[in-house]
Amino acid sequence: MPGDSRVDTSSPLSHLNPTMPRTAKSALPAARLEREKANDEIYEKIYIAILEHRLHPGTKLGEDRLASIFDVSRARVREVLARLAHEQIVDLFPQRGAFVAKPTPEQAMDVFEARRLIEPAVMRRLITTLTPDKIARLRQHQELEQDARRRDDRRAVVRLSGEFHQLLAELAGNSALARSLRELSTLTCLIIFLYDAPTAISCRADEHSDIIEAISKRNSHLAEKLMLEHLDHIEKSLSLDTSPVEIDLEAVFRD
Ligand SMILES: [Zn+2]
Repeated sequence: MPGDSRVDTSSPLSHLNPTMPRTAKSALPAARLEREKANDEIYEKIYIAILEHRLHPGTKLGEDRLASIFDVSRARVREVLARLAHEQIVDLFPQRGAFVAKPTPEQAMDVFEARRLIEPAVMRRLITTLTPDKIARLRQHQELEQDARRRDDRRAVVRLSGEFHQLLAELAGNSALARSLRELSTLTCLIIFLYDAPTAISCRADEHSDIIEAISKRNSHLAEKLMLEHLDHIEKSLSLDTSPVEIDLEAVFRD
């Protein structure tokens, strides 16, 4: 499909998902391995669709419909939904089913507070373990982001912006930090969608460049400061103090 961001900006992180215990899989029986592989694919498809705002917060994820879309059993869909719920990307309600998570303004502020604590620590750890290869990986990701911006592909921009922060945590080499940041940056994507003020721009490209520069100069103090300012800018660009996206009922039912 022309313009489909999945084609040319494929996630550089898909092989790095810290929630997937890939190393342990070689010991599993073949049938179970197959099943887990299929589940991983369904998981990734739903996860990317949420990240790219093709699935809106609050969207019902019906087991039957997903089972038929992916041509698998409902039990398998349930496993994937349980995993997404564990990562707080999906809300599960007894009797009502699964829905794409819809963080409240309070939860959104909690997410930013957690990120302000974690991401400076990521900067410090990354700089103390820095290699030329890691800098190259960051610059490579920056290229993908800039390319998506040039094409004005907002879906890809939001996803890649979030993935930049995940990549920093991956490269810092602490799997617990990386897992937390993966969850927090996915929630941030949902939050940006829900509380996007007209001027919201998710992550500013120049700010990511400045952060990479500070990292490559091993200036930990500057990198931490730039990261905190960056998170402040994202949070301030959102309208968290007003009610989320109001639907104009008249407009919906006009004609
Ligand atoms: Zn950013």
